[in-house]
Amino acid sequence: MTHSPRPTVSTDRAAGVLLGLAAGDALGAGYEFGDPLPDDAPVGMIGGGGFGWAPGEWTDDTSMAVPIAQAAARGADLRDEAVLDEIVAAWITWARTAADVGVQTRAVLAEAERHGGTAAAARAAAQALHERTGRSAGNGSLMRTAPVAYLHDPVAATEAARAISSLTHWDDDAGDACVLWTLAIRHAILSGTPDARIGLPALPAARRERWAALLDDAEQRRPRDFARNGWVVEALQGAWSSIHGAVSAHRDAAALRDGLERAVRGGRDTDTVAAIAGGLLGAAFGASAVPSAWRRVLHGHPGLRAHDLVALGTLAARGGEPDDTGWPTGPRMDYLDWYPERSLTPHPHDPRVLLGSIVDLDETSADAVVSLCRIGTDQRRATDHVEVWLIDRDEPEANPNLDLVLRDTVDAIAALRADDKTVLLHCVAAQSRTPSVAALYAALHRGVPVEQALADVVAALPAADPKRFLREALTRITDQAARATTESPEAS
Ligand SMILES: [Mg+2]
Repeated sequence: MTHSPRPTVSTDRAAGVLLGLAAGDALGAGYEFGDPLPDDAPVGMIGGGGFGWAPGEWTDDTSMAVPIAQAAARGADLRDEAVLDEIVAAWITWARTAADVGVQTRAVLAEAERHGGTAAAARAAAQALHERTGRSAGNGSLMRTAPVAYLHDPVAATEAARAISSLTHWDDDAGDACVLWTLAIRHAILSGTPDARIGLPALPAARRERWAALLDDAEQRRPRDFARNGWVVEALQGAWSSIHGAVSAHRDAAALRDGLERAVRGGRDTDTVAAIAGGLLGAAFGASAVPSAWRRVLHGHPGLRAHDLVALGTLAARGGEPDDTGWPTGPRMDYLDWYPERSLTPHPHDPRVLLGSIVDLDETSADAVVSLCRIGTDQRRATDHVEVWLIDRDEPEANPNLDLVLRDTVDAIAALRADDKTVLLHCVAAQSRTPSVAALYAALHRGVPVEQALADVVAALPAADPKRFLREALTRITDQAARATTESPEAS
């Protein structure tokens, strides 16, 4: 196990797996069982749907993935029978009160509970159901397979994917789909590239050609064409069709949002197809590609929020160990060598945005907080708290989605201000990230020319000294925004 002193790109991608899954799930929740939507139909975390979800609330897909992720986050081997017992026990507990347990999963878990509630009992119930009905290839094991990808060893990941699938879904199609998708997610965490074919060699030889043809088919058709997406095969095809379309349309991490919206517009089992797509998109593009507007509202069983999913993914990728600073489980990120000064200062172009350091976080009375650095679990505020993945290091791999993240962050500040909230914007020492983001906010949302905005913010903050890569990003982003306004004036 390698220990990196700071989050790295692969940490962002590992954190993206569960966050992406949950984002797709919660995005699709309000549209489940609906007809396909037009390509330009807006899609949002609206909640509602057949089960009356709250906006941003995830459903069974994420709830069933969480116990797998929790085991992976302890560094457990997911092939271990005792670990599988714990996962089944957690599912049985969840299914007692959950409204939306899939038909096949509910039958298997109920039968397993009558026979001791172990993994062996679940497996036997899944096999019996398959032999009795000949139909056990629902999409319910594929939707939760993403956290299996954290296993470093591809052979272990293959074995675990099939083992966890067969706890509820005995059909070969379900197991094959889980192997393909798990290996694709693992590869995406390592490489940044979504490739659904990477796992084909891990399937039994006699079934590889069929799956290769199914993936080809998915690339030539649209998500809505896979209308039988309650079946694991068409669910996987719908998810891959969404990802392929989005990646072809975008050169950057904007593909994550677009891919999830495409999956939802495909209709029918929208939350599950988008959850499946989200695991792979999150692995390829990282947690930093998930819009903060979604992260703010994302929540669900068992009482978790977006930052908890980031922590689980991070720990799983690190074999259960926090990094050298204690992140993501440590109570405080105090940056032990030194203490930054208090520097709470009103933004020169919006006095209800307060600019500060991590020390200012402790005593803030702001209604909302935007953190541009890692924080400890005790430093999280009960108020609306947006945690941003922005590393103050001039290396492209440190901030793979830099422009997207900066724009998303200033849009989040503007959204909080539109809700009439006072916002604390802070990083460690208000030196580089805070003045940069504050200046971009003034440029994009308060109509201040960016050079002027930066000069005013730097003058207001005694320690300010924004790094060059951030200054360059501000110029790039504001130039691009100006061009977009010139090209389509009504869009501004
Ligand atoms: Mg669901």
